Amino acid sequence: MTTRPNPEVAASVEARLRYYRDLGIYDFYRRGEPLAAAEMVNVAAEPQVPQLTPQYVPAAVTESESPDLSPRAARSAAPQNMPRAQALHLLREEIGDCTRCPLAFEGRNNIVFGDGDPHARLMFVGEGPGADEDAQGLPFVGRAGQLLNNMIAAMGLQREQVYIANIVKCRPPQNRTPEPEEALTCSPFLLRQIEIIQPEVIVALGATAATYLLGIKGSLASLRGRIHMAHNSKLIITYHPAYLLRDPRQKKEAWIDLQIAMRELGLTPAKPAGD
Ligand code: URA
Repeated sequence: MTTRPNPEVAASVEARLRYYRDLGIYDFYRRGEPLAAAEMVNVAAEPQVPQLTPQYVPAAVTESESPDLSPRAARSAAPQNMPRAQALHLLREEIGDCTRCPLAFEGRNNIVFGDGDPHARLMFVGEGPGADEDAQGLPFVGRAGQLLNNMIAAMGLQREQVYIANIVKCRPPQNRTPEPEEALTCSPFLLRQIEIIQPEVIVALGATAATYLLGIKGSLASLRGRIHMAHNSKLIITYHPAYLLRDPRQKKEAWIDLQIAMRELGLTPAKPAGD
């Protein structure tokens, strides 16, 4: 007798399969079943995660010739033992109707504080809100957000289990890259969120997130594919979902980065229905 899967489960499995297909992964096998020789070829062709030794990169290290991009020190206002949800709420209140940087006066509709589980083991950090995020006051809810949701599902997690925030909390006009003044003014609040949530792993989405979380500028190619240490968390750097929408061939590389995060968190990839 065949049983019909619950429509929600079916939709989430479908989203995962779509993401795997986008990554060029078509073949699945059941745990414990022997692999036929032909299947082994396919499995071996999947992107392999290199063996990694964590690289300890102090967040505040700067190179003498480059400008200081390390966010100003985070100051903890909330008592250590305060529940995390309450500490985040207090921080949001402290930010208020912020006018600390020029982005407050450049067409912002909503401050996008961040969203997710205050106890998340995994945090994603993007660059800054786009039009959809500015309208809804929530991070990653537009097209790039849809892709991020699929990436999270492919990791075997639900969006509600992670925490998502950005380097700047207000939309830069025309989605331009935040200016250093804007990023350095806003990111101490992000650091306070990190301090409250204490994620084991942070995934920086794109060069802007990488720059301001590490405090140094480097090419994404030179920074991704390995583990950095920053703000008491393991930091993994990968492509921004908006970039992956423009160049889907890089999704395979992003999946390698996400697998590093999964391994650090002891996660196994989501299995399709039946497993
Ligand atoms: N891009 C980002 O960097 N952040 C968002 O929240 C949405 C799009």
